[in-house]
Amino acid sequence: MKTYYHYKGVLHVHSTYSDGQKSIPEIAAIANELHLDYLLMSDHNTLQPKMDGLEGWYGNLLLGIGSELNDAEDKNHYLAFNIPKEIPFGLDAATYVQRVKEEGGFGIIAHPDETRAHIKAYPPYPWTIWDSQDFDGIEIWNHMSEWMEGLTNWNKFWRILHPRRSIHSPKKETLQRWDALNEQRKVIGAGGVDAHGFVHRIGGVLPMRVFRYKISFRTIRTHVLTKAPLPKDNAQKALQLIYEALRHGRTFVAHNLLGDASGFRFFAQSDGQRAEMGDTLRGNSNSMIEVQTPADRVLIRLFRNGQVAGEHTGRKARFDITQNGVYRTEVWRGKRPWIFSNHIRIQNAEHRRT
Ligand SMILES: [Zn+2]
Ligand SMILES: [Zn+2]
Repeated sequence: MKTYYHYKGVLHVHSTYSDGQKSIPEIAAIANELHLDYLLMSDHNTLQPKMDGLEGWYGNLLLGIGSELNDAEDKNHYLAFNIPKEIPFGLDAATYVQRVKEEGGFGIIAHPDETRAHIKAYPPYPWTIWDSQDFDGIEIWNHMSEWMEGLTNWNKFWRILHPRRSIHSPKKETLQRWDALNEQRKVIGAGGVDAHGFVHRIGGVLPMRVFRYKISFRTIRTHVLTKAPLPKDNAQKALQLIYEALRHGRTFVAHNLLGDASGFRFFAQSDGQRAEMGDTLRGNSNSMIEVQTPADRVLIRLFRNGQVAGEHTGRKARFDITQNGVYRTEVWRGKRPWIFSNHIRIQNAEHRRT
């Protein structure tokens, strides 16, 4: 059996290179304090921090630099990673999605189904070109987007004082869309913090750091399983390992305030074969899926092609698989969703059992 190496990190972070409040070294120091393994920056329409040599190891933190692209109407926000050079601003979304691919990079749609409309100062930035076949993934959960969407003038003050308690779950329509897309082709799911360190002024007087980086980094984390340990003496090689895992879908998303999800595993097996998230299993009559979690008495829910296909309460679950499909799992703690796996495809499972 192959060995994979687990790392936890955050992605979708803004610095003073665009509309964030802190410099990249300051952000890296915060991430280090929280013991994150990696962090991926996404400043708006710029790769300047990468050109300035800010990518690399900061103590135990590996920091990679991508860019959040958008079109002239400020729609179709796209997190581009592993791109060697800046993609010029002003292109339409289909073109930059294509360009990222041509440059050998990969991209994740940011806040795909954003609909917030309660407060004029914060318009939504949705994705509109779903017919594109070139994007690699979508943010299934975006911390800032969820917070903003629930924001009204009535609950504004409560939310500003309790930014963490207002995060509850990804949007249902995004999860449905993600499952439907995966029935067509592999589209990976990631979590974004969309951290800016924004200062929100209550009544124009008292500045409150609603989205302090430290708060954001404790919420939605994207965990990866890499093919090799990250080499401390070679940041580029280490980043390629993180990118490979994300791109392949060997990744899961977890709300860290409900617990550290590091021990979570989701895999499929049939005689002599094992498939991880992002893989395809050529099954047989002995196919099964196993879910391991790092907590007791959690609700483990298995989904097949977007529908609940099994449920179990405990620390671990095992499900016999007799139907082909794309499978993923959700782990819930009480009434709150905690962990979201990526999909595993199972083919050839429809054999008659003996
Ligand atoms: Zn955005
Ligand atoms: Zn952003």
